[in-house]
Amino acid sequence: MLWEELSWPQHKEMAQNGAVVVIPFASMEQHGPHSPVVVDTLLCENVCKKAVDGLENVLLTRTVWTGTSHHHFEYPGTISLRLETYVALIKDIIRSVAHHGYKKIFVVNGHGGNVQPLQATLNDIGYDIELTIWMITYFHLGNEISAEIRKSPVGGMAHSGEFETAMMLHLRPDLVNMDEAVDQINANPHPLGTKDMHHRGMLFRPVDFNRNRAPSGVAGMPTAATAENGAQYFEAVSARLRGLIEELVALQV
Ligand SMILES: [Zn+2]
Repeated sequence: MLWEELSWPQHKEMAQNGAVVVIPFASMEQHGPHSPVVVDTLLCENVCKKAVDGLENVLLTRTVWTGTSHHHFEYPGTISLRLETYVALIKDIIRSVAHHGYKKIFVVNGHGGNVQPLQATLNDIGYDIELTIWMITYFHLGNEISAEIRKSPVGGMAHSGEFETAMMLHLRPDLVNMDEAVDQINANPHPLGTKDMHHRGMLFRPVDFNRNRAPSGVAGMPTAATAENGAQYFEAVSARLRGLIEELVALQV
């Protein structure tokens, strides 16, 4: 069910029934010359809709379409919140949901730059409000399927690389122009650094696409993307997310 379609008495009842509220957090930022700036929002939202479809006692809110994207700021179309604005936004949304009596919240993140702000803020909220909050960055749920079917080498699945472009070709091919797709794999990754979204490393280094990924703004191999693989990625991550949401529904708190 969609959060926005319920009346206040229905919300009161859902909160009393202990419903899980799923909140997608994404971004509006450049995704290379071949894809639109809505990629993270579009993918995260569609995965969430598929994951909750038909589930009892689960509510899906609208997708939070702004995130922290300063590392893409020099590319036109990117809309980015400052860290302090974003932290305040996260807190106010979670507080609003909790204020009405909901006790279980599932945050689904769709953008790498949101991971640390979300985790730090959700930790902080946990001291103020008694809530059960789970959070997942949905594309990490694609680790297993990507190990099976990916066409690009390690390094090909990063920002607007094979994974995201394949899912876009599956969901909204009308928004993708593969003639403009440019591959840009990190040539010298540190041995302990993150190599792509499915091969995460230990060494943290701030990301700066403005300087390090010019001119295309791509990290990975979008030319390896196919709609067929995109369909498989989409089905796999949605199914795994659905399983996690069902676990939270069943959890006794
Ligand atoms: Zn993205």
